[in-house]
Amino acid sequence: MTDRNGIVFVVSGPAGSGKGTVVEKLRQIYDDVGVSVSATTRQPRPGEVHGKSYYYISREEFESLIANGQVLEYTQYNGNYYGTLKSEAERILESGKDMILEIEVDGGSQVKKLLGDNCINIMLIAPDAVELERRLRGRGTETEDAIIARLNRSKEELKELVNYDYLVINETGKSDECADRLLTIIKAEHMKAHRADKYIKTNYPE
Ligand code: 5GP
Repeated sequence: MTDRNGIVFVVSGPAGSGKGTVVEKLRQIYDDVGVSVSATTRQPRPGEVHGKSYYYISREEFESLIANGQVLEYTQYNGNYYGTLKSEAERILESGKDMILEIEVDGGSQVKKLLGDNCINIMLIAPDAVELERRLRGRGTETEDAIIARLNRSKEELKELVNYDYLVINETGKSDECADRLLTIIKAEHMKAHRADKYIKTNYPE
């Protein structure tokens, strides 16, 4: 156990912002963090693995998780449910580690409301709209309708930036640098004076 509580870092960003790659790189340079695996009702994409990319479940299963209070937050995105399981959050935070939630903005604000200062919201974006669309099309796994729906949702997500704590631009081909920036945020947050209560009480007893 550490002398501070784990912090929840929400990493949001329009589809195509590169969240997945950047968070993966972050884990390679910083292992004191657990990444929560979300549940979703969408179909797996080629190469995605149940229990690693997502827990792929049916709508009935998802709705019963909601009804039983087993999700920390959830949203509907392009006709599917996505949500963070309370069990995942507990597993990670009880180990004393920070937690990364790679989720969209609606879920991000739900978590912020629940956890307040213990949740830091970071928005990751592609450098511009043209590059965002190029990345989305480059995936080659989506129908035209799904791409358009994701582009429209991106515009909505960007409007939420005012409610976020940090903005990180993911320059093309520079995901290592981008992961470094996330790590800078994490380190700075650890040094916030208001998080030092436990440390001061332990090390400077009255
Ligand atoms: P994708 O289908 O591309 O994997 O994910 C679509 C969007 O859902 C992305 O913005 C992703 O970050 C978000 N997402 C993934 N898991 C969760 C979750 O547990 N909760 C919420 N609110 N959004 C999620």
